[in-house]
Amino acid sequence: MRTGRGANEGTTQLTRDGDDPATRDRAVFDSLEPDSRDEVGVPSMLERLIETGLRRDDLRLQEVFRALEDADERAIDFDSFSTVIGPCRGLIERALAGRLTIPDFPSFKTEVTALYERSLARRDGELASYIPQLARVNPERFGVAICTADGQMFSIGDADIEFSLQSCAKPIIYSLALEEHGAEHVHRYIGREPSGRGFNELSLDSDGKPHNPMINSGAIMACALLQRGQELADRFEFVLDSIRRIAGGRKVGFSNSVYLSERRSADRNFALGYLMREHKAFPEGTQLIEILEFYLQCCSVEATAEVMAVVAATLANAGVCPTSGLRQFKPATVQNCLSLMSSCGMYDFSGEFAFTVGLPAKSGVSGAIIGVVPNVLGFCCWSPRLDEHGNSVRGLDFCRRLVQAYNFHAFDNLTGMSEKKDPRLTRAQNFADDAGQVTWAASFGDLKGIRQLVARGVDLERGNFDSRTALHLAAAEGHLEVVEYLLNLGVDPQPVDRFGNTPLDDATREGHEPVIELLTHGSKRGERAW
Ligand code: GLU
Repeated sequence: MRTGRGANEGTTQLTRDGDDPATRDRAVFDSLEPDSRDEVGVPSMLERLIETGLRRDDLRLQEVFRALEDADERAIDFDSFSTVIGPCRGLIERALAGRLTIPDFPSFKTEVTALYERSLARRDGELASYIPQLARVNPERFGVAICTADGQMFSIGDADIEFSLQSCAKPIIYSLALEEHGAEHVHRYIGREPSGRGFNELSLDSDGKPHNPMINSGAIMACALLQRGQELADRFEFVLDSIRRIAGGRKVGFSNSVYLSERRSADRNFALGYLMREHKAFPEGTQLIEILEFYLQCCSVEATAEVMAVVAATLANAGVCPTSGLRQFKPATVQNCLSLMSSCGMYDFSGEFAFTVGLPAKSGVSGAIIGVVPNVLGFCCWSPRLDEHGNSVRGLDFCRRLVQAYNFHAFDNLTGMSEKKDPRLTRAQNFADDAGQVTWAASFGDLKGIRQLVARGVDLERGNFDSRTALHLAAAEGHLEVVEYLLNLGVDPQPVDRFGNTPLDDATREGHEPVIELLTHGSKRGERAW
């Protein structure tokens, strides 16, 4: 696969903003550490791509993976590399340059694995028992899958086992109805208020409409709006095909036994249907029985946590499926859907969930929860034991842990004092941001800035790359007030930097008498006078 030396062969150049694409290609190629023949091993390139979280089944990368795997030689040179990455250049360059949504994906995977393991310890809750197919599921199942807005994927546990979507189909049906008719038309038939009642309770709002599309009555109504005039078979096929597309072409199935059982125990849903018909809530010409069957078929669609994580990621990515790059929903559709997932998605626990977890999510009685961190990622957890509200015990536990670990709660960005990690930053940024800010503030004599960093819980003794701490910088620049403040807080008065210098050495070198006096006075007395 060697096609000759590139124009910039063998020269790692300093890259600058505004570099032409060939120079950037070269820099990315060099990051793969070409050997002395200026070639990169195909297996190591594949490994590097997979490490970033991109997957072999990503539709955007099919050609690239195929070309690499079919490469008859096990190494490629720069020209071949440029040809192979071809139309996916942008994505691959961002991946290899650590510029995908979660740059340090290996660390993220390790951290999420630890959260998963803690949630796995939960064994409380009960299986749904209203149909035998749900009552028979292995209660120990637990799978979690995450897909970022760039299509980086991670899954753990039983993330490849299919379950029936049940109420997790509701946001999809609602979004499809919005795409077809627009919000104004859809909300002529469905409200957008939390009902404050059970998800299947026999009640309508004061206009005789279902309260919202995330409860049974609202989802039945959304089904009535979808693809009117088509045969039931075509309407169902439309939903299945849509879910497949939203999931980036992944496999989506249907459980006939779940459907038949749902059909046998659907008295409440039939009652809801008749109640709505009595209130003349349906559009003219609605075939009630057919619509109820359609609704129950949608509940019986089967998918895995991995598939549903991609569905959630399409919502996180404003309607563009991250792993196909194709738009599935208008941004306005997604905005409406996420708003109602936020207020009504978690049964009678929706308010509490919005308060404590702060993410748009939807739960289903099979034990699935899909959650969305807008612009960042979608996730799906599945574990069948449910709490008293009908939410998966382990799934809920995982959601809580996720927002405790990361700044994902919708209002985390308001606090500014969050101790939580931002996985959108690289490891270097996470580290350097704090260390860099505190050392720069000290060198400017910016006491107010340092106080703010202290309020954020930043480690004042953490040095920069050269192990120079805030105290070194303040002493070297003669900022007496800052030196005094740091010493009063009890920071180590004699840290040694990479060059073997203490803050006192710096102050002495620069001739800052008051600082020397303060530092010496303290150390002479052998105690912290400050
Ligand atoms: N098939 C169930 C029903 O309509 C869905 C319940 C759910 O997941 O909330 O009753």
